[in-house]
Amino acid sequence: MSFESLGLLPELLHAVRDNGYDTPTPVQAQAIPMVLAGRDLLAGAQTGTGKTAAFVLPILQLLAPQASTSTSPARHALRCLVLTPTRELAMQIEESVRTYGKYLPIRSATVFGGVNINPQVKALRAGIEILVATPGRLLDHYQQGNINFSQLQYLVLDEADRMLDMGFIRDIKKILALLPTKRQNLLFSATFSDDIRQLVSGLLNNPASVDAGGPRNAAAELVEHLVHPVDRERKRALLSHLIRSQKLDQVLVFCRTKHGANRLSEQLETDGIASSAIHGNKSQPQRIKALADFKEGKITVLVATDIAARGLDISQLPHVVNYELPQVAEDYVHRIGRTGRAGSEGMALSLVCVDEAKLLKDIERLLQRPLPTQVITGFAPDPTIKAEPILTGRGGGGGSRGGSGRSTPRPGGSTRFGTGAGRRPASPSARSGASPRGK
Ligand code: AMP
Repeated sequence: MSFESLGLLPELLHAVRDNGYDTPTPVQAQAIPMVLAGRDLLAGAQTGTGKTAAFVLPILQLLAPQASTSTSPARHALRCLVLTPTRELAMQIEESVRTYGKYLPIRSATVFGGVNINPQVKALRAGIEILVATPGRLLDHYQQGNINFSQLQYLVLDEADRMLDMGFIRDIKKILALLPTKRQNLLFSATFSDDIRQLVSGLLNNPASVDAGGPRNAAAELVEHLVHPVDRERKRALLSHLIRSQKLDQVLVFCRTKHGANRLSEQLETDGIASSAIHGNKSQPQRIKALADFKEGKITVLVATDIAARGLDISQLPHVVNYELPQVAEDYVHRIGRTGRAGSEGMALSLVCVDEAKLLKDIERLLQRPLPTQVITGFAPDPTIKAEPILTGRGGGGGSRGGSGRSTPRPGGSTRFGTGAGRRPASPSARSGASPRGK
């Protein structure tokens, strides 16, 4: 299968070639012909599958006949709205629009909260065909009279499951009510809860269904997983040890809470490891700078919360570390979707304490296989330490204590974490400084 065989315009094929892609990913191969044929689309696909090009390429093609080189705003009516859950994802999608659309006179812009609204107003007034937006700021612009939806033909809901998780359903419904009823709708989601199905049934008209080939596990298959059992209070020391002993130079680390992410980032700095935190309490310029520093290798570690990391496109990221396992097993798959992307291999390390035994089991059930375990010499868990409830609100740190918030009691006594024995790793010789049996 080639991009040529999908019937794309020469201008788009040229841009795809410039980007170095020669084969469409499964979601692209399935979705592009359906979108070009004018069908509504329901796609099971998460970040890392190539889903952005799966909608951006055909939409650019559908818009091309009306594209105009005129600078008059009147010749650049808003035709396509892409709704996304996060600012980072919005920026990355619009970057893709520019990349793939560079040989077509089609204009685009992003609007998202947390930054000055005036440059966005200016971009909207200049006239654009494609707008990538987060729901709240889009409604602000509409209420200020900055947006006219009367010519809108295409709507994309990207990462719809995450938008619902983030509480955007009311904003989405308000937005849908403002759009012309005759339009083509595309919905991308990694998971399909009852809420998503309800949204789909009210939104999509006889949709073509596309599956990116096991969206939940596609990323997981490309990645080597390794669990390091460790005491909750020793996670930070183990992380610093792993970074140093294995000479890791670009590591995305996940924490459960914003506070935990900040604290870990500061502690790593104290250990002499250049680090930044990225989460919802950081301003947009701070987030952009942290991501840029990370991509350029100015910092070794980017510590992120699940929501902040959603949509980050850092190509060929070699290492993801779960400093704390996520509360929801699906988030493990989203997290490791940051590594091993688009065919490159990655490594997902999880530092797991006795409190997290059940969370690990949930992940293994989702992936339908046990994850290899390796105790690092000098970091074997103390079997006398009992499991404690995991706190997910403010203050959750390296393990499970401190702060307030919902608590989930976890049964203790897991042999995997309580005895310090660990299981044999898949390839014990692969990593220096590690011993399969601990001590
Ligand atoms: P996405 O799932 O849209 O976030 O894309 C994940 C990554 O795959 C991005 O870095 C894209 O640039 C890259 N990508 C998209 N399509 C292809 C393709 N056909 N071949 C290789 N890489 C691709």
